[in-house]
Amino acid sequence: MVDAPSDRNQVATDAESAFMTLSHDLRLEILLALWDAPGFSLSFSELRKAVGERDSGSFTYHLSELRGQFVAKTDAGYELQYPGHRVLDAIKSGVFHEQVTVGPVELDDDCRECGEGLRFEYDTDYIGRVRCLGCGDRTLEWPFDPGGTVDREPEGIVAAFDRRTRLVWSCALDGVCPFCAGRIDRELASRVHELGTCIGVLEQLDRYDEYFAREHSAVVSVDCDRCSFYSFIPVGVVLLTRPTVTAQLCDAGVDVRETPLWALGFVVDADAVTVQEGDVTRVTVTIPDANEPLGFTLDESFEHVEEASLDQ
Ligand SMILES: [Zn+2]
Ligand SMILES: [Zn+2]
Repeated sequence: MVDAPSDRNQVATDAESAFMTLSHDLRLEILLALWDAPGFSLSFSELRKAVGERDSGSFTYHLSELRGQFVAKTDAGYELQYPGHRVLDAIKSGVFHEQVTVGPVELDDDCRECGEGLRFEYDTDYIGRVRCLGCGDRTLEWPFDPGGTVDREPEGIVAAFDRRTRLVWSCALDGVCPFCAGRIDRELASRVHELGTCIGVLEQLDRYDEYFAREHSAVVSVDCDRCSFYSFIPVGVVLLTRPTVTAQLCDAGVDVRETPLWALGFVVDADAVTVQEGDVTRVTVTIPDANEPLGFTLDESFEHVEEASLDQ
């Protein structure tokens, strides 16, 4: 659903007013002081002392501007509210004021194309990248927040990148935006060109050329109705969200929890994904690392995942 211009204007006005409330450094200091306090709460005098403001009039004014939405007045003093927490969460993610580089970090996993060791790098464009220096394969790429690099050794950063990417992907695949909680449109986008079906056509998707898994014959395109979140997810990731499937994978010797995304063949190998001949709404994902021939077929609703009968 597209917002009417008048609705958009109202949203812009409301959002502008909320952002303007935060447009003074003393107000952010007040939020940060409450965030540091036990129970996120301080008395008037404790709060004033914590931010070190000598001018009582100025302090009272800026505190009053935060009241109602970001800070509540309680019997004990002033308490940080949910919107205040979310402002600080956004600041702590580091995306507004930090630019960090990490790596290259040598990984334990080898390139599935050529066998050379893989490397992880994080750059100031906020993208984490797992690549092979040998053949140049872009095994996995996804945005990561600078906050994820703080107080972690390089190996911990790599593990956090893996976990966070899984979390974002599985949330989006369930139709819920991991950033704004809005509704996500999901579409199985296939390389097969067939008119008259509701399936997307890969090459026509915006920014698809830049996508690390652009060699895959199908991906899941996800697009949030509310915010800017818009991306493509390897089809194999759908399997990670199904306990019955992950149990079967475990029986077949594929531990999806211990193995990072870039070492799971059914997630990163282009060859593992095939669009069913004659029915572009069905995609089969084979499991290259299983100790037996194993594959799963899913349809465009992503609801039904069934074991595929593979040709031996
Ligand atoms: Zn390689
Ligand atoms: Zn969203």
